[in-house]
Formats: sequence, structure tokens, C-alpha cells
Amino acid sequence: MLTNSLVELDRQHLVHPVSSFRGHEARGVRVLRSASGATVTDAEGRELIDGFAGLWCVNAGYGHESVVEAAAEQMRKLPYATGYFDLGAEAPIRLAAELAERSPGDLNHIYFSLGGSDAVDSTIRFIRYYWHAKGQPQRDQFISVEQGYHGSTTMGAGLTALPGFHEGFGVPYQWQHKISSHYIYRNPLKTEQEIIDASVAELKAKVAAIGEDKVAAFYVEPIQGSGGVLVPPKGWVKAMRDACAEMDILFVADEVITGFGRTGPLFACAEEGIVPDLMTTAKGLTSGYVPMGAVFMRDHVYETIAEGAGAKAVGHGFTYSAHPVSAAVALEVLRLYEGGLLENGRKAGARLMAGLESLRDHPLVGDVRGRGMLAAVELVTDKEKKTPLPAAVQPATRLFDRAWEQGLIVRSFAQGIFGYAPPLCCTEAEIDAIVERTRTVLDLTLE
Ligand code: PMP
Repeated sequence: MLTNSLVELDRQHLVHPVSSFRGHEARGVRVLRSASGATVTDAEGRELIDGFAGLWCVNAGYGHESVVEAAAEQMRKLPYATGYFDLGAEAPIRLAAELAERSPGDLNHIYFSLGGSDAVDSTIRFIRYYWHAKGQPQRDQFISVEQGYHGSTTMGAGLTALPGFHEGFGVPYQWQHKISSHYIYRNPLKTEQEIIDASVAELKAKVAAIGEDKVAAFYVEPIQGSGGVLVPPKGWVKAMRDACAEMDILFVADEVITGFGRTGPLFACAEEGIVPDLMTTAKGLTSGYVPMGAVFMRDHVYETIAEGAGAKAVGHGFTYSAHPVSAAVALEVLRLYEGGLLENGRKAGARLMAGLESLRDHPLVGDVRGRGMLAAVELVTDKEKKTPLPAAVQPATRLFDRAWEQGLIVRSFAQGIFGYAPPLCCTEAEIDAIVERTRTVLDLTLE
């Protein structure tokens, strides 16, 4: 059978670091054949709702012919022009201008990467250039948040604070530090204000311990994604942003997941009422059709780097920066978002949150959280004590497999958390099916 031979070839030749090396061979890869809207079809012809939009990226949904056409047209016309030097193509220039127009505040300068990890790595380099230009090269220490995820490249993995990303790599580097996550559900502090105050105090104490003139930047996800969809208290992001401004530390918002309609607006920073000094995006930028990421810089960051560099080149760039085909796709995806998908995502998101909230009465549901089309259900065996699921049920793969059997793809985190990030194009019926299938999985897990 085709599937069997593909599974065998995959086992022999294709490396999936997160699963291949830990004995998932027994199960084998699940091969997808095609997709349309929010539905994917596996190699055997079985249809499933993709409640996770690939890897929180296919925000626009699958199968948009206009996106395919935009890519094909660009490939025919001009498939490549380097963005490394002063050469360029129309699509990335137009895309940069369109994004600058829509971004919060004066985040007017855009550097295109290939994805999220290298966007984050690029910010580290830009920030170092910035502080050199300011005559403060000793500002070379970076702070991020526990449970955070900022990529798989070595520098990004050092800012990341999830088990498994550090061992054996010598990261985090000595210049990478963390403060505790807000993680409201498992936070011993009682009120949201207490959590905000504690985070601000911890950040200030951390900066004081490192040295006030040594910290370069602080990184935040507006909602922590890979840590388990951890929504901060309302006002937390702004309080951290204000604290950074007070201490003259650059504030970086990593919107790789939250960007492009995932939480409602185009950028989550807008609803937090803040303008970060730098912002990273990827995933929904091209909706997964082709790879691309983008670093946004405020005027003062860009101008400082430019002045500091003088006649010297700022040594940073990738062969595929500002790729014309990716840019053409992103321009079309942006048109789709604004042509109704953002609006649909807002409505579908409200329905998703209400549906998941209705699961709270289930004996296994400890917490339901999220915003827009980004949500999580945290499972426990004892609601009072918030006891995590027993190890026999908990492993991410088991919950994932059970959902798959019900025709639903969700992310299942090792702690016993279901993560949801469906495409913004979901219909009401699809949202309801996501909720109902989750309830079935919970019932089966209870047995
Ligand atoms: N930052 C955040 C917040 C992310 O969620 C991710 C990916 N999940 C990354 C960075 C890295 O992006 P990529 O996988 O495209 O390199």
C-alpha cells in the first residue's frame, strides 16, 4: 500500500527531530495528501478538521487558488532577486510598505527572514548593532520568560525556556536570562494584579542583578504559545513594556504565533495598546504556503543602527531574505485577511472560546483559556488540587492519537494540554465539531 511504503521511507530517511529520536517509529508518520479550507485529507482518504492550522500557521486556510496564482505568476516573472544587497523586486518592497502601514506605531522598517527562528536570531544581531551604535556595547544581556518559545536555532533556543531545547547545546548562553511565567492557572498568586506586580518586580530585580547598564532587551510573546497557550493577565504585556521603557531596555514582541489574525486583530500588540521596539512575525504572514518571517523595527531602532554603521556594512542577511515568491504570497494572503478572513476569524474565535468554555463542566477539564482563534484546554484528574493527568495518559502522542481517531487534529502538549489554533476560515459547523470531538476524546480518556 502507498501509505505503508511512505511510512517506511520516512522511517528510513526523513528526520523529524522531535519525534524520530524518541521511538515514535512504532507508530510511524501520518501522511497527508491534500487539504481545503480547514479540512485535511490523509493518504487513505480520511478527512480531518485541522484544529491547529498545520503548526499554528495556515491562518488563511488551505487551497486558496488566488494564493497559488500569485506564487505561480511571480515564479514565471521573476522567481528570485537577492535582498542581500541593494537589489530587489517589486513584491517584497510593496509588502514591506503594506506591513509598515498596518503595524502598530512607527514599526516602519522591515527585514524579511525565512521563518520565525531566524527572525528572532536577526533581532539579537540588530539589537547588538543598536547598542554598539549608541556607544553602549556592554549592553549584551538578554532576558526572556519561562515557558516561552522563540525558535530552534541556537540563539533562539537559548531564549526559549522549554525542556528539551537546551540539553547538550550549551544554551542558554551566559548572556541569556529568564524571569518566571505568568501562567495564571498554576500561579500561586491570587489576583491578576498581583501577578503583574510580581513580574515587574522580578524583571527589575533581574536587571539590577545583571547590572542596569548591561541589559540589551527583553522578549515577550503576547500569549505564550508552545508553553501551553498561556494568556497573561490583562495589562501584563503593557506593564512589562512600560518597565522596559523606564529602564531603557529594548522590548521585543514575538508575534510569530499571535500575528496575522490569530487573536483577532492583525497584531496582538495593537490590542495590548503597546508599540514594541522590535516585533517578530512569521507563520500567518504567508499562511504556511511558503516560508517567510519578518522583523519589524521602530524608526529609532533603524535610524540608530544606520547612523552607527556609517559607511560600514551591517553584516547580516540570508540568501532568501525578501524572497519575491514568498512576498507575492504574503501580499495575497494579506488581501484575503482583509477581505473577510479577519472578520470571520473574530466570529469563529468567539464561538470557539464559548464552545470550549462549555467543556468546563467535564470532570477532566481544569482550565480553559485563550483569545480569538488561539486556545487551550488543560486536563487534570482533580480540579481542586489541579493534579495533572497520570503519566500513562498524559504523553502528548496519546491525546493526539485519540483526537486523530475522532477526525480532529489538535496539538497536545506533554503536560496534558490541548492546544487549538484553527484556520480563520472555519465555519460555525467546523468550530462546533472541534468542540464536540474534543468532548468525545475527554469522555474516552475518562474511561
Ligand atoms: N517564536 C515563536 C513565538 C514561535 O511560536 C515559533 C514557532 N513555533 C518561533 C519563534 C520559531 O518559528 P519557526 O518555527 O518558523 O522558526
